[in-house]
Amino acid sequence: MADYQAPLREMRFVLNEVFDAPALWASLPGVAGNVDPDTADAILEEAGKITAGVLAPLNREADEQGCRWNDGDVTTPEGFKEAYQTLVEGGWNGLGGNPEFGGMGMPKTLVAQFEEMMQAANMSFGLAPMLTAGACVALDAHGSPELKEKYLPKLYSGEWSGAMDLTEPHAGTDLGIIRTKAEPQDDGSYRITGTKIFITWGEHDMAENIVHLVLAKLPDAPKGPKGISMFLVPKFLVNDDGSLGERNQFGCGSLEKKMGIKASATCVMNYDGATGWLVGEENKGLAAMFTMMNYERLGVGIQGLGAAEASLQSAREYANERIQSRAPTGARQPDKAADPILVHPDVRRMLMTMKSFVEGGRAFSTYVASWLDIAKFSEDDQQREHADGMVALLTPVAKAFLTDRGLDTTILGQQVFGGHGFIREWGQEQLVRDCRITQIYEGTNGIQAMDLMGRKVVGSEGKLFELFAEDVTNFIEQNSMDAALRPYLESLAAALERLSDVTELVIKQAGENPEAVGAAAVDYLDMFGYTALAYMWAKMVKAAAEKAGNDTSGFYTGKIKTARFYYDRLLPRTVALAEGIRSGEGAMMAPDASEI
Ligand SMILES: Cc1cc2nc3c(=O)[nH]c(=O)nc-3n(C[C@H](O)[C@H](O)[C@H](O)COP(=O)(O)OP(=O)(O)OC[C@H]3O[C@@H](n4cnc5c(N)ncnc54)[C@H](O)[C@@H]3O)c2cc1C
Repeated sequence: MADYQAPLREMRFVLNEVFDAPALWASLPGVAGNVDPDTADAILEEAGKITAGVLAPLNREADEQGCRWNDGDVTTPEGFKEAYQTLVEGGWNGLGGNPEFGGMGMPKTLVAQFEEMMQAANMSFGLAPMLTAGACVALDAHGSPELKEKYLPKLYSGEWSGAMDLTEPHAGTDLGIIRTKAEPQDDGSYRITGTKIFITWGEHDMAENIVHLVLAKLPDAPKGPKGISMFLVPKFLVNDDGSLGERNQFGCGSLEKKMGIKASATCVMNYDGATGWLVGEENKGLAAMFTMMNYERLGVGIQGLGAAEASLQSAREYANERIQSRAPTGARQPDKAADPILVHPDVRRMLMTMKSFVEGGRAFSTYVASWLDIAKFSEDDQQREHADGMVALLTPVAKAFLTDRGLDTTILGQQVFGGHGFIREWGQEQLVRDCRITQIYEGTNGIQAMDLMGRKVVGSEGKLFELFAEDVTNFIEQNSMDAALRPYLESLAAALERLSDVTELVIKQAGENPEAVGAAAVDYLDMFGYTALAYMWAKMVKAAAEKAGNDTSGFYTGKIKTARFYYDRLLPRTVALAEGIRSGEGAMMAPDASEI
């Protein structure tokens, strides 16, 4: 397994050359004072050192050790506490946080690069800062001034960590049927009772307090999703002076044994009349939780991307070193017993597919992050509304497409290693196992696809889709005279037209048939993702073309050749996906239960 190195050159390319992030930051008053190109670069550099030097070396052994449960306490694998402390000392937990409460106020475009490094280096560990950041977003957006004052500074500093408690044994996707109860108390607090399962980092020994955001129902709550409220429930109650008080009435009943991310604690949490405080309004908890979920969803997409990057780094190195058989065109290294496997077209197929998804995926996550920045920091109402629409549309694509392609990529990386890919010490099988959960949690990828197709595309009668289509069309029109880009733009325009046609068809079918959306959704999200990555690759060709002539490093010429591979070998998948969608729901709904 290659030692993970943060892909700083790649990240700088995407940030500075493809998206001109410094110009974006300078145009957003809310962020302009917090970051400039030198600061951003120093953050990337330092993040690279910490993730490669501190987190990555723990990853393999921590997977073997896992977390240990003992009478409600959870002990993390060796080195995790110290690594967590390194993050606390560097203020990394508050990188994107609100400066009013001690956060650093960095733009998401930059924070996303740090997140990728952390998830690539050590996904189990990376979940802890990720959940804390998500909890902070929800609290900052919906908490009362008192709650924010009391909790946000310690969460941003990392002294305390965050967890989110939605899932119950009988309620995962359908949170409307949760049973956890919240009873109002005379002092304005609530007594929380119930059981939550699968709570990531719900208990551990890295931070001195753990702040849970718990979904529960008030006694008179309406049935279903409209009767859910969100509560802040700390492990230790916090005194008025900010010091820690008594232990709250809840604890970790056990840890799950699982397929991957074994070094993270997945906890059963039992609430036994615990004291909590309402966050946001009564019965509006699901909407409040969605603020956190949307943030997390891009973060989970980035987890898929990170695993894919780590897999690519190792597979690329291995393919250059491992020698087997001769190249089909004759020996390339006659002095050796065989040629490196990189000479074989099928190994090239795997590596180029991996590189296409990883670099296209990084551009896409940065693109989505740039809309998040505009939505959060722009002072222009119209621009903000436009960005909100893009974020709503693109978030499910980022979550599901990046994790689906993330798993594809890690499996390809494992395949490049042959039998060694199946053996633990090489690390590729861990990446496959770790990446698998990203397709399931934070709303399964099937549910993301329903969200995209049902709520976003059909729900807006195609208006949100038009925002994206317009963005791509503008790019095509603005660059129509660019000779280097022309061959890509024709295929991109055709892919967009294909996607637009299918969008129109499903919107029409949805009005006539309630099963149409569910039947089309996953293939539609895939088509959307492949088209979006084609757009990203066209943007990367534009940024690379001018510099490719003098490029002896292979960086820019490599970008253009990878774009060609993507357009020739991967984008055509949208043709087959469109065919499948057009066939409708008949074939999947026809069988009786006994026929499946
Ligand atoms: C390791 C791990 C960590 C986790 N961390 C957390 C955490 O920190 N906090 C937390 O609250 N939860 C957490 N979860 C829970 C996770 O978010 C849920 O498992 C996930 O949302 C799916 O819910 P479920 O398991 O109940 O599956 P179900 O909801 O039972 O779904 C089963 C299948 O049916 C499909 N399905 C369900 N409803 C529909 C529908 N309406 N239309 C189409 N298909 C449908 C699903 O897509 C899925 O394929 C974690 C889970 C794991 C395994």
